[in-house]
Amino acid sequence: MLRQPVERIRAVHAARPDRVRAACSGRSGGAHGVGPGFRGRDVDPGVVTSADVTIVGGGPAGAALAVALGRQGVRVELYEKARHPRLKACGEGLLPHGVSALRDLVGLPDAPTVRGLRFRAGEESVDATFPTGHGLVVRRDRFDNWLFDHAASTPNVDARPGTRYMGTRAPILVGADGRQSMFHRGLPATPARPRRVGLSTHAIGVEGVTDRVEVFFQPDGELYLAPTGDGEVLISALFDYRHFTPDGLTRLVAAIPALRARTRRILLKTLRIEWYEQ
Ligand SMILES: Cc1cc2nc3c(=O)[nH]c(=O)nc-3n(C[C@H](O)[C@H](O)[C@H](O)COP(=O)(O)OP(=O)(O)OC[C@H]3O[C@@H](n4cnc5c(N)ncnc54)[C@H](O)[C@@H]3O)c2cc1C
Repeated sequence: MLRQPVERIRAVHAARPDRVRAACSGRSGGAHGVGPGFRGRDVDPGVVTSADVTIVGGGPAGAALAVALGRQGVRVELYEKARHPRLKACGEGLLPHGVSALRDLVGLPDAPTVRGLRFRAGEESVDATFPTGHGLVVRRDRFDNWLFDHAASTPNVDARPGTRYMGTRAPILVGADGRQSMFHRGLPATPARPRRVGLSTHAIGVEGVTDRVEVFFQPDGELYLAPTGDGEVLISALFDYRHFTPDGLTRLVAAIPALRARTRRILLKTLRIEWYEQ
């Protein structure tokens, strides 16, 4: 799509001015797309945008796409209903290929590097080292804010923080609106009930943290531990929703002897809980 994007996008608009087109991007729980003709949930057909592409969602997917398109001369409207910085339940790890792509796009944020992962299940522990490059661990409130700022300062990008997309007519509409996507909800394959619960907290005082992201597999769910800098550690968990209770993180940590001993005197600084539909 980036080859001669302006001409191609405007040709679509000129050929089908009465139609809204939708595109998709992102990974699991992230962006979701719908077929041509989708007009959004609350479209006001009287509102017509002058942008070539309307992006709904200013998380990593939406902000990165806005930067890439804006630089190519594509006029972009970027809607983000929240105001950055905001917390997000996440493992906050960027793998080497993501680091490399980010470096090419906008450079890298100031964040701790990691050289691999340590997988733990019961008494077993396996280390995996990245064959090339390194990963980064960057708090989502900082990362998303940083990337959104890049998008907002990119030529041709009209960034609208604190603005919920309610529907406009645009030649191309990108659903990058995350786990509760308004576009995703309209698809027939969407599960009727939430399937997983994501939970993140940043803590001071976790012992034995290294330059590896640790992943603990438990029957109730999985738990990630990663250094976020200045002695702070991310503890993040993904639960099967049937096993989740508000004290889920405490239970999960207590159920892992290796972790229980390392978290006796921790101070929690943040907490974020989110329901996932897949
Ligand atoms: C426990 C856990 C651990 C994870 N660990 C990792 C990890 O280590 N590494 C990794 O890469 N991924 C990880 N993920 C997945 C990662 O969080 C998502 O893949 C990523 O956030 C998707 O980015 P996105 O930009 O598509 O969506 P999001 O980050 O969800 O952003 C969507 C944005 O759209 C906005 N929005 C929604 N609706 C509207 C609307 N109508 N109008 C305007 N704005 C709207 C929202 O406010 C939000 O800011 C993890 C997830 C969980 C739950």
